[in-house]
Amino acid sequence: MAARISSALAGLDAIRGDLADFYRDLHAHPELSDQEHRTAAEVAKRATDLGYEVTSGVGGTGVVAVLANGSGPTVLLRADFDALPIQEDTGLPYASTTDGVMHACGHDMHTTCLMGALKLLADARSTWSGTIMAMFQPAEETGRGAQAMVDDDLFARFGRPDIVLAQHTAPFPVGLVGGHAGTAAAATDALRVVIHGKGGHGSRPEATVDPVVIAASTVMRLQTIVSREIAADDAAVVTVGSMRAGTKDNIIPDDAEIQLNIRTFTSQTREKVVASVHRIVKAEAAAAGAEWEPDISVIDEFPVMVNDADAMAKTLAAFGDVLGTDRVFDPGRITGSEDAGNFATAAGVPLCYWMFGVLDPEQFGDGVDPVQVVRDMLSGKIDLKKVPGPHTAGYAPVVEPSITTGVTAMTTAALTWLGAS
Ligand SMILES: [Zn+2]
Ligand SMILES: [Zn+2]
Repeated sequence: MAARISSALAGLDAIRGDLADFYRDLHAHPELSDQEHRTAAEVAKRATDLGYEVTSGVGGTGVVAVLANGSGPTVLLRADFDALPIQEDTGLPYASTTDGVMHACGHDMHTTCLMGALKLLADARSTWSGTIMAMFQPAEETGRGAQAMVDDDLFARFGRPDIVLAQHTAPFPVGLVGGHAGTAAAATDALRVVIHGKGGHGSRPEATVDPVVIAASTVMRLQTIVSREIAADDAAVVTVGSMRAGTKDNIIPDDAEIQLNIRTFTSQTREKVVASVHRIVKAEAAAAGAEWEPDISVIDEFPVMVNDADAMAKTLAAFGDVLGTDRVFDPGRITGSEDAGNFATAAGVPLCYWMFGVLDPEQFGDGVDPVQVVRDMLSGKIDLKKVPGPHTAGYAPVVEPSITTGVTAMTTAALTWLGAS
């Protein structure tokens, strides 16, 4: 096993330059969720050139690339490829050329690394048997892309995988790989609440039902869900990230809108928190004498992501063999969310999802031990404002050795689960 992994990885030297060009091109041309047409076309062209059977337009702009190589397990390798509505502020020479859109979550890196792994695996096909099913997934940021691919008869058309393997960049020092068995990422429920009051002149509040005041008290009362309704050994996050109402100081508006984001780690807590939000939103409107109940709608949602414990242990052990055990660690569960688990859940197979560091270690200070950096980061000792992470305008993965790490991890994981030739 170790021999076939190292022989496959030996091909990396020859493709590093090309992969770096591919990465910079993707980074310079980010596309928002479900609009990844250029990206999908580039991906389809490259995978076809590598000898994969490529199908575009799966679940919207998704691309599936299959390499059938005899009997054996089918491994689903997944990369997402959408970008975010952020104005890039990295100063990189290959920064986004599209105003207000940026690859700020590293999905360009995921796509580059999967393409690199597909090349190494295709070249090494005499050493393994089975089927590679690569997913280049749209719309991860909206939580809809993976499910859209599944719902496009994915498994009926392309076969059912035996395992799902996926990776994500992380604001760790480059070269480190982290994976957590069990519940690894939080569920998200993003909600839009529209409070209906009754507008009027600002000088005559008695003739109105002021939605601004209802919104304000709703935001304050929502803070009591986590502090008063969630047990000390449980965890949840309720963030109101947007609040909008009115146009002028002396006009009481008809409506107010708030947008909130909930993170939880179990379905029980998830249901409880969502129910509490509904209860509070309605009760605050009723308390103010509003005639209509507020409207509550879902902006997006992600399920809890759960890594299979045995599969994770086997994959992380393989990473340790290849990268060195001091480079592989358990980052614990994160409050971020991810839809890669939808493939595994729909197929009823194990998920292995890991993160790989992509930041210049010097960003964390001189001569530091990278593993200690991660510990300090996770325990809150590092000021993350000084180290721009995902979803910020300054998130700037170093091209290398990030690509090397990501290609190595994905190739190693795939070969760990494919059959012997
Ligand atoms: Zn993201
Ligand atoms: Zn992401």
